[in-house]
Amino acid sequence: MSEPSTAVRKVACPACKGPSLFGPGNPWRPFCSQRCRSADLGAWASERFRVPAQAPTEDESQPPDS
Ligand SMILES: [Zn+2]
Repeated sequence: MSEPSTAVRKVACPACKGPSLFGPGNPWRPFCSQRCRSADLGAWASERFRVPAQAPTEDESQPPDS
């Protein structure tokens, strides 16, 4: 149990499922590379754009000609 907290861990890259170093030396963590990180962020962005806003504003629930 003498492992330092700064030890670099090996994790699975969320994008390519490959080995990724999770530590200070990897700025793209938990991804293995910048390419994987931007690819995942791109998927995230398109996913967010596809999903419409779930919560309508309260003002819109009232008819304009009341
Ligand atoms: Zn990757």
